[in-house]
Amino acid sequence: MEQCYLNEDAVVLTSGGQDSTTCLVWALQNFRKVHAISFFYNQKHSNENDIARRICEKLSVPFKLVDISFMKDLVISNLFKGGGDLNEKHQSSNSVPSSFVPYRNLLFLTLASAWAGTVGARHIVTGVCETDFSGYADCRDVFIKSTQVTLNLATDFKDKNVVLHTPLMWLTKAEEFKMAADIGCLDLILKETLTCYNGVETMNEYGKGCGECPSCLLRKKGYDEFRKKYN
Ligand SMILES: [Zn+2]
Repeated sequence: MEQCYLNEDAVVLTSGGQDSTTCLVWALQNFRKVHAISFFYNQKHSNENDIARRICEKLSVPFKLVDISFMKDLVISNLFKGGGDLNEKHQSSNSVPSSFVPYRNLLFLTLASAWAGTVGARHIVTGVCETDFSGYADCRDVFIKSTQVTLNLATDFKDKNVVLHTPLMWLTKAEEFKMAADIGCLDLILKETLTCYNGVETMNEYGKGCGECPSCLLRKKGYDEFRKKYN
């Protein structure tokens, strides 16, 4: 686990899903004050914005929603409302899943850093993970490290360099469930979070979801492994 910063504040990228909610609770235990930021980018599962807000209210975390729905006019992704099958390959390249939104995390991290500067925070927490690699280039550790360098070169605020934290980077989904149990938020993860690409809120043993999209399949597999290994 990373270092504690109990004298400093953090901004957490929050989507109402398992990853970001685990990060949110982790950040509450590791920073003095936590701010949440969430994005509407015309995603199919935009009810995640309401879920993120509700989770933040429960945890008494200030919540900011940013509308970047113009993304749909600039890049192609089946994750947008009206987009096609999420189990296919991307229309721009066969090497990535159709759900990939090009430049999304770069934009998210830039906007979160901008907000962090305004609220007096310099730590940014994001739930990206390389272990159960989804084929998203912008979830890789090398991308995060490179972006941190770029963000700091972009501002040159010498005493306020941003630090990007990725507490889930090397965890499997099963280990992430274990982490949630260890930091006391497993119940919140199972009952409140929505990770499903289709935004389906049907309750299952592993939490809400359609049970069929790649995100639900990964979460279900991780929960099953968690139960077998740790319970
Ligand atoms: Zn699903």
